[in-house]
Amino acid sequence: MKNRLKIAIQKNGRLSTESLSILKKCGIEFSDSSNKLFIKSTNMLIDLLMVRDDDIPRLVSQNIADLGIVGENVVFEKQLSDTSLKLKTTLKLGFSRCRLSFAKPKKMNLDNINNKKIATSYPSIVKDYLEKKDINAEIIEIHGSVELTPFVEISDIIADLVSTGSTLESNNLTELDSIMDSQAILVQSSSIPSQKLPLIEKIVARINSVIKAKDSKYIMFNADTDNTDELIKLLPSAESPTIIPLADRSKVAIHTVCKEDVFWETIESLKLRGASSILVLPIEKLSY
Ligand code: ATP
Ligand code: ZN
Repeated sequence: MKNRLKIAIQKNGRLSTESLSILKKCGIEFSDSSNKLFIKSTNMLIDLLMVRDDDIPRLVSQNIADLGIVGENVVFEKQLSDTSLKLKTTLKLGFSRCRLSFAKPKKMNLDNINNKKIATSYPSIVKDYLEKKDINAEIIEIHGSVELTPFVEISDIIADLVSTGSTLESNNLTELDSIMDSQAILVQSSSIPSQKLPLIEKIVARINSVIKAKDSKYIMFNADTDNTDELIKLLPSAESPTIIPLADRSKVAIHTVCKEDVFWETIESLKLRGASSILVLPIEKLSY
């Protein structure tokens, strides 16, 4: 029990599906994962603690969990309100991207936020921002339905998480300045027992290779032998490509990993410059 690695993830919410999926892609198998607070891996010395995202920084800091997957926004808020948290960010995971932004009712005239009442679930981050900008405003801490507060005279404006902006829009709010960008991160305690370090290193390396693979694509196409340099220059963040001769001596096949997505514009430019049979494939795992 003592040597088993414990990973805390959000039980129910925006981070849950992707957190579980990234761990499964790392080769960690679980029995039925629905409706349980504690899930044992069936093939590795790993257990999942299914918890509220707000509890993850403290659980990791106190070594109840060794690793945790949580939003940067939550970690930053907890670190500002409790400086004794012993936590470090190991990896940025690239999902659940959002930003913490101020927003005001569409119909409100607003020159600046001085002396305004700001409702938010992130009082420490907002306080820190206001202090740094030398702005004097009142913070109203509220958890849930923050968007409603300006319309029931609890606040003048809000500071809340935004991703597409559609929730703000449907609540008649306009986004103002953004305070911070956020995404899901992997955190670990700064005092991990040494016997757990090898397994942590293995899992961190696997997660790293899963996230790198997600952003990367494998591209293959045929081209005229004398045109390869021009075409290779069009490939985004490409490794040095493999060039394979074809039966038709005037042509070659070019294969390479692009470390970012290959958009339609790239494919169209390649085609325009003579590339043919262009194939773009997803990559499941990528290790350098
Ligand atoms: P819990 O019950 O676990 O406390 P919660 O209601 O606090 O859940 P969720 O709404 O599931 O949390 O959001 C979890 C995280 O997802 C946020 O802390 C943030 O990092 C991220 N996120 C991404 N986009 C958004 C968004 N548009 N609104 C809110 N959170 C977002
Ligand atoms: Zn929460």
